[in-house]
Amino acid sequence: MLGGMQDFELRVPRLIDHAAREHGTREIVSVYADGQETRTNWAGISRDARKLCQALERFGCGKGDRIATLAMNHSRHLVAWYGAIGIGGVIHTINPRLFDEQLVYIANHAEDRVLFYDKQFQSLVDRLKPQWTSIEHYVAFDDDGPDGFEALIAAEDGDYVWVEGPERDPCMLCYTSGTTGNPKGVLYEHRSTIIHAMAEVAPWVFNLSANAVVLPIVPMFHAASWGLPYAGAMSGAKFVYSAVNDPKVLCRLMNDEKVTHSAGVPTVWLSMFQHMDATGEEPRHLQQVTIGGSAAPRAMIERIMGMGVVVKHLWGMTETSPIGTAGFPPPHWDEMTLGEQLDLVSRQGSIPFGVELRVLDDEDREQPRDGVSSGRLQIRGPWVVKRYFKADADAVDADNWFDTGDVAVLHPDGTMQITDRAKDVIKSGGEWISSVELENAAIGCAGVGEAAAIGIYHPKWDERPLLLVVRKPGSNVTPDEITAHLSNHVAKWWLPDEIVFVDDLPHTATGKLLKTELRARFKDYKLA
Ligand code: ADP
Repeated sequence: MLGGMQDFELRVPRLIDHAAREHGTREIVSVYADGQETRTNWAGISRDARKLCQALERFGCGKGDRIATLAMNHSRHLVAWYGAIGIGGVIHTINPRLFDEQLVYIANHAEDRVLFYDKQFQSLVDRLKPQWTSIEHYVAFDDDGPDGFEALIAAEDGDYVWVEGPERDPCMLCYTSGTTGNPKGVLYEHRSTIIHAMAEVAPWVFNLSANAVVLPIVPMFHAASWGLPYAGAMSGAKFVYSAVNDPKVLCRLMNDEKVTHSAGVPTVWLSMFQHMDATGEEPRHLQQVTIGGSAAPRAMIERIMGMGVVVKHLWGMTETSPIGTAGFPPPHWDEMTLGEQLDLVSRQGSIPFGVELRVLDDEDREQPRDGVSSGRLQIRGPWVVKRYFKADADAVDADNWFDTGDVAVLHPDGTMQITDRAKDVIKSGGEWISSVELENAAIGCAGVGEAAAIGIYHPKWDERPLLLVVRKPGSNVTPDEITAHLSNHVAKWWLPDEIVFVDDLPHTATGKLLKTELRARFKDYKLA
């Protein structure tokens, strides 16, 4: 027996229709790489997306076709998302910071038919064009000439009806950054995207409404900009986009446009702090900062909270659309000491309705939520991957549990704490040392700019920690000072056997420490 309610497929174009109808005048501000600044609004995005649908159909594109972008954050990129999805197609955001080999693999594997790109990536496009086998049309977003994006949509009248279909149709393709092996494609659906956006606007995740002014520093090619382009349309938030990640530009925009919400990986906040220290400038209207993608160090959380800003710590991955958990102050927040608050926000947050989490030990036994039993973190839910794009087998077990590759503990209050990535854990004498905890503790030491901990072969203990440190400019901090600081924060047997100073550390395309490269570089390192 069916219930008595309406058929109403949860399709992404409904988001842009809603934004245009209910919040049409809320602005989308963009600063391009050449400094050009444009202003449109949700009604404008909707109109241009319909025009783009007509242009894409003129190219011969239709249902299921993959339309790729290689671009930073701006309103034309947003138009491309809603236009590609509007024809029943799949928007495929490519990360321009990947290696050539991966960029070739990804576009060919996805069989992209059109590529929209920023001119700042022109040389990359020219270089790889001969190897991209499926792309038929190349259009630059910021080319003002007759072949550019604006000319393409100006030729259309925008009288277009979105393509309809089932809510389980695909709408977006994102590849993992592939720190090991080839990148894997995660194919989001209309339904998964809408349900995920509904969870995101809620107070316990992004806390968005039409009053919010959002500057997503997280790029649109990084796990769908954490879903913000969808959650933003759902809530009618104003967006402020910058195609350059220069803290000077970001800080100016935050103040000029009265930005209330921002989101990004920890490294972007580090460069923001450097700018603030050098100029004395500070974002004055911020209410909430969301940090995710890697663990937010306690010292970073403390500094942002000290600015009177709510810090949200987010955990997730491309495979989870990407929200897995998010921090939210508990009812007794005001009675907590600053130290207790920082401990809590340093964890990766609580589980929102929609996903379920569990932690398993090496024998696949589910671990209690006791705050100490750690193990492999698994997740399931309607916005979690089941099978990678074009894969032959599911990526989950029979009960839909997806193994995240992270090691975590669940606390009695329901919060989740990532202790490490399974492959980054340092195994010493049969026990585990969390590389993440060592790094975060080290960053709290004055003079330490960035730190990475890796396991080095040891004849007795199997592995022992080596800590690689980038000093802050002008600092002469010594290994002894760092060790003394660390001994206040971690167990004695966790202390690094050696501390080595380096000029810089390698990062992945999404700004995380590239441990695989570090391990390769220090493969033959002998501890004294
Ligand atoms: P990739 O796996 O290619 O790096 P993702 O951006 O999908 O790409 O990364 C997901 C991973 O990032 C998670 O599995 C986890 O290891 C790490 N991660 C994300 N958010 C956090 C966080 N708040 N704290 C610690 N680790 C995080």
